[in-house]
Amino acid sequence: METKYIFITGGVASSLGKGIISASLGKLLQARGFKITIQKFDPYINIDPGTLNPYEHGECYVTADGQETDLDLGHYERFTGIQTTRDNSVTTGRIYLSVIERERRGDYLGKTIQVVPHITDEIKRRIRLNATKEHFDFVITEIGGTIGDIESQPFLEAIRQLRWELGHNALNIHLTYVPYLAAAGELKTKPTQTSVKQLQGLGIQPEVLVLRTEHTLSDELRAKVAHFCNVDVNAVIQSQDLPSIYEVPANMQRQGLDTICLKKMDIEAEGVADLGAWHDFLERRNKATKVLNIGLVGKYDLQDAYKSIIESLAHAGTYNDYKVHTHFINSEHIKANNVGELLSPMAGIVICPGFGSRGIEGKILAAQYARTHNMPAFGICLGMQMMVIEFARNVLGYSDANSSEIDVKTPHNVIDIMEEQKSITQKGGTMRLGAYACRLREDSHVFQAYGGKSLIMERHRHRYEFNNRFRDEYESAGMHCVGINPTSKLVEIVELPSHPWYIGTQFHPEYSSTVLQPHPLFMDFIKHCINGATEA
Ligand code: GLN
Repeated sequence: METKYIFITGGVASSLGKGIISASLGKLLQARGFKITIQKFDPYINIDPGTLNPYEHGECYVTADGQETDLDLGHYERFTGIQTTRDNSVTTGRIYLSVIERERRGDYLGKTIQVVPHITDEIKRRIRLNATKEHFDFVITEIGGTIGDIESQPFLEAIRQLRWELGHNALNIHLTYVPYLAAAGELKTKPTQTSVKQLQGLGIQPEVLVLRTEHTLSDELRAKVAHFCNVDVNAVIQSQDLPSIYEVPANMQRQGLDTICLKKMDIEAEGVADLGAWHDFLERRNKATKVLNIGLVGKYDLQDAYKSIIESLAHAGTYNDYKVHTHFINSEHIKANNVGELLSPMAGIVICPGFGSRGIEGKILAAQYARTHNMPAFGICLGMQMMVIEFARNVLGYSDANSSEIDVKTPHNVIDIMEEQKSITQKGGTMRLGAYACRLREDSHVFQAYGGKSLIMERHRHRYEFNNRFRDEYESAGMHCVGINPTSKLVEIVELPSHPWYIGTQFHPEYSSTVLQPHPLFMDFIKHCINGATEA
């Protein structure tokens, strides 16, 4: 089968859940046995979101091959279980960079470089790039931003051209919003009509419309939208607010999103895709009524900043038959006199990743509290580094222990900059990124948690590391280095064998937890939080 291209654009407002719709459609096509990939094209100028503050764009997700990407790639992986690559995340910055590099090399000698055709050609090349490396039945491309943004224009022009070149091998889905005016008691379709008109003005006729709504849309209303927008009425799908994003694929399936897309691309669509294990997950999730309170100790008071961690906790909760309620605990507000009050209602805490000094003393206090109160604690990246610093200060007796990220002069730099990072001057894309191997000590807790595997692969995003100069001191004082990179000897995991569950990982396990394959460390952490909570 020739590769088919599905483009998903958004109109009216941002944050309508284009990423979830893309991931859900991917899931449904995958469940029908098609080979798919989902990619995100972001119109902003940054080369990648690696240098963006989470307040700007939420969490920075990292692919196994080491690309810092938009958090939507996390949804794609969690929904489909298929790993994305560096070619699945493209920004305007990346497009321009390659065109400008080619211009400097002299590839276009004599020519004026223009948005059309040079930038649009590069966008088209990138859209098709994944399918030149391996065969895909479907390449789903989500375009970031909202129709009407200045930055989106070249992407939409590229899609228009591709649509023309690919004919029935391409399809446009447009996601819009239908607001409810409480005073009038009415749902309003005008913004949708305007958004589709805007697309049509750019030469793009969407074949399928997905309408985000907080209220059920009547058949008349869907017919009205169909009529005004040149779309079949059965291709006007509603995406009503649901209790969880994981309900979306089944909702899209009930309304036939996958069947309509297949039909529009002249593909036989027999029966219904078998969502099998996905339904089991949903059922288990809905049946789990007991609540487990987990504290997220971090500095970003924003859900999206810790998206993958929150989702990983939720997956592990479901498979342990609990509903995980995550409570954000701002580390900037944690002080010695309130740490007990803030943390004690929790069954366990996650000490979150991060950069820079803001809020780190609070993370250290949280680590100390969890360590001395037998509270399950999971330190991730910076969180692990804070566990290591806390141990140095309060157990090894080095009151000035720190990370050289925070204090360059301390003689007890128990966390230090990695050797290969010392000469790096550019900030973008230069951290230790992507999946690296880690060997687990066989007498460790984590070895059990990983089901007796001795070699694991996990994704990284950091510049600083555990300082091996202090390793023997840690080992003899009771903090064990139980995960080591076999080639670089970097410490990847620390644990306290004397504690019910006190584990810190230099890597980010949250990037690889999926709906059908919850991460073993999150599973084990939640299990111990439940045990602790029920014993107490
Ligand atoms: N700032 C720390 C480092 O660079 C930790 C990074 C993180 O938590 N992702 O090593």
